[in-house]
Amino acid sequence: MNRKTKHIFVTGGVVSSLGKGLTSASLGMLIESRGLKVAMQKFDPYINVDPGTMSPFQHGEVYVTDDGAEADLDLGHYERFTNTKLTRHSNYTTGQIYLSVIEKERAGVFLGATVQVVPHITDEIKAAINSVITPDTDVVITEIGGTVGDIEGRHFLEAIRQFGLEKGRENVVYIHLTYLPYLRTTDEVKTKPTQHSVDWLRMIGVTPDALICRTEKPVPQSMKDKISLLTSVPKGAVFDAPDVESIYELPLLLHERGFDDFIVSRLGLDARTPDLTRWKEMVERQRKPDVEIDIAIVGKYMTLEDSYKSIFEAIDHAGTSLGVKVNANKIHSEELEKRSPEELLRNQSAILVPGGFGERGIEGKIVAAGYARRNSVPYFGICLGMQVATIEFARNVLGLAGANSSEIDPKTPHRVISLLDAQAKITDYGGTQRCGAYRCRLAEGSIVHKLYGVLEISERHRHRFEFNSAYKEIFEKAGMKIVGTNPEENLVEIINLEDHPYFVGVQFHPEFQSKPLRPHPLFVGFINAALSKNIKQHQR
Ligand code: GLN
Repeated sequence: MNRKTKHIFVTGGVVSSLGKGLTSASLGMLIESRGLKVAMQKFDPYINVDPGTMSPFQHGEVYVTDDGAEADLDLGHYERFTNTKLTRHSNYTTGQIYLSVIEKERAGVFLGATVQVVPHITDEIKAAINSVITPDTDVVITEIGGTVGDIEGRHFLEAIRQFGLEKGRENVVYIHLTYLPYLRTTDEVKTKPTQHSVDWLRMIGVTPDALICRTEKPVPQSMKDKISLLTSVPKGAVFDAPDVESIYELPLLLHERGFDDFIVSRLGLDARTPDLTRWKEMVERQRKPDVEIDIAIVGKYMTLEDSYKSIFEAIDHAGTSLGVKVNANKIHSEELEKRSPEELLRNQSAILVPGGFGERGIEGKIVAAGYARRNSVPYFGICLGMQVATIEFARNVLGLAGANSSEIDPKTPHRVISLLDAQAKITDYGGTQRCGAYRCRLAEGSIVHKLYGVLEISERHRHRFEFNSAYKEIFEKAGMKIVGTNPEENLVEIINLEDHPYFVGVQFHPEFQSKPLRPHPLFVGFINAALSKNIKQHQR
């Protein structure tokens, strides 16, 4: 095969949190819309081997791929913006790269050589870049986490420098994302940090082909010309990216500025003009909703928006598709242990309890599930949210006093949620977790069958505990139906309360597969039910 895969590297400077992930994702979307096949990947500078063990309080959500990799949340943006298939090769950390090199050293692979950052670590990184290429990949977009100048990220920058040299500069584009701060006192936008950031990159041998300058407001051409002069990046390759109201506007904004045209011509790609009609319509719908509703998200990691990133996005996708602006109000589950649900949840048209680990705040979530059940408030329980709904039903409907998950209370007399190992023979989950995509068969005629429109689905998991099958029968008899089951192991995947407008608990994480143009059916069903309940409207 003589076709050559092209490469785009995205680095960032000046400050972190500029939206490198979103920029990469937007670029992926634009390139895809031009009929090309894109692969996406992120390098993270930290030493953790994967983010699976990092606190959601600190690092935000752990994103899960189909093949069960626990990955950085930027991968969620990649999947939401593009159709690229992400795998465990889509996210590499410094820890993972070093671990692999050190393991090879221990196994004697290097035949007595002194093992060094160059070439051993950089070779490992270059192999990681190549690992995402499939026979039909036209363009690989690799985002380098962190900021230029960080001590931790240097080996990645060195590797991408070498990569450009070896692959040929005509096949590689370096994009650098910077920040243009606005100084209120003098009423001006400053370019100096951008110059320094580019100087840094140059010092290590990477010459950026394009700059994307994040700003509060659009900047005039004269400012771009100045940046061009000072950084040697050609005028036509200095782009500004002012703040946008919705992240989904970013690809449209970059397209208007000619960013994808620049990439396509710089890499000599044979690409059609993009058709962004559907995307534009979606952004328009999002801008002008017909109604507004309030729903509650009852969770533990409520201080950081990113902890439930994919959940908020999935809610937004469903809302947009229905012409609804959904205000997802964060309610700390521990609050529900101190104050009444009536007081805290009265004004909410629906309740969602997301996934989580550990005991903190669990009783509050159980209270939320009970409130939703009794008051016919639409309820969507995801992973832990499904488990608390199970516990609540066991205690308060089935009369199983002290029922619990063995994660929370190992001595409970009724372990309605129990350890996976005790029930199933699945052996391919990472560590002791069931992680990644598993099949699920839906009950014919059930609400979930109607919403999905098919009888078999595949959804991603990340958990250790499961619905205890020994209790299936009494749950079903009392009206809590098992409407989704894993065909291999007969594990309970979805529960649904009869005679309730929408009470669905899922053992998996549907939020990971929702996209703005393909909202997840269970989220659509949930928001639709919330809409019928719309408390705001009923109060008017
Ligand atoms: N802690 C629960 C378990 O391990 C739920 C996990 C989750 O919500 N992702 O099963």
